[in-house]
Amino acid sequence: MRSFDDYTPFYAVIGDPIAQSMSPDIHNACLNQLGIDAQYEAIQVSEEHLQEQVELLVKSGCKGFNVTIPHKLGIIDYLDEIDPYAKAIGAVNTVEIKEGRLKGYNTDGPGFFQGLSNVYERDLIDADVLVIGAGGAARAIVKTLLMNGVSKVSVVNRTVLKAYGLLEGSKGSAYTFSEIEGNLSIYDIIVNTTPIGMYPEIGNLPLNTDSLQPHTTLIDIIYNPLMTEFLSQGKEKGCVVQNGVPMFVYQAALAFKQWTGLDPDIALMEEIIKKKLGGNPSC
Ligand code: NAP
Repeated sequence: MRSFDDYTPFYAVIGDPIAQSMSPDIHNACLNQLGIDAQYEAIQVSEEHLQEQVELLVKSGCKGFNVTIPHKLGIIDYLDEIDPYAKAIGAVNTVEIKEGRLKGYNTDGPGFFQGLSNVYERDLIDADVLVIGAGGAARAIVKTLLMNGVSKVSVVNRTVLKAYGLLEGSKGSAYTFSEIEGNLSIYDIIVNTTPIGMYPEIGNLPLNTDSLQPHTTLIDIIYNPLMTEFLSQGKEKGCVVQNGVPMFVYQAALAFKQWTGLDPDIALMEEIIKKKLGGNPSC
């Protein structure tokens, strides 16, 4: 972390691992473009050092930070305040520091919802949605869908008990993979939130896609690779597909706006990710 006599305002992302994070690339480009005299840096923070590192961030003049795996739940213990929306989701990915006080937000859910709204042309309220996975990202996505009036949300997960835990207020159900794999055609939207298919294991599939039909919109929140095997098979069947870049960029944009009051350039963020990973960022 920076020295105490460096007074340039700064933002950060904390996580473990953190070296591969593209958050510094996109935030620094937008700070620069808007002429804001501040820097954004990635800081490796292990679970056992979370409290002391957070205290250090406050002391060294950090104005806000993003939180990634594995700290999205643990950070809540060190906040002075939590936004009601983040509280309902039960996870925080954005922290604002004002006069030494820390307030937590969740921009993952709204970031996902913005990306989905860009690509889904029918009425979302009526959509039958299947979410694959029941971890932190799935939780933000399921809660956000339900809070926005999308009531038919089902979850399939390896540990099916965790899937049940996400479904309060939903008209959907929890499933095992063997129960769901032949029935994908009933869904309007299917979202992969597991890391299956992520670099370097790029040939892997979260589930068998044989029963997919072209009317289903597929979203994979993975963005490395830009085109996962799951999306590639969906595209071959004629489905509309979207990768994890829109969710990533919109969650970053919402955090940036929270900290600076300014809207960053979404196209610039997408372009930077495209350059780093190669290919078309929105599929
Ligand atoms: P997490 O809390 O660890 O949850 C992972 C989920 O995937 C769990 O439901 C887990 O099932 C399931 N899973 C993992 N490995 C599996 C396997 N081999 N077979 C079957 N299921 C498996 O992780 P997370 O924070 O939700 O993140 C998940 C993914 O989303 C990561 O790839 C992350 O990079 C991505 N993500 C993207 C964005 C974005 O902005 N695009 C934002 C956040 C996260 P069990 O419950 O059975 O363990």
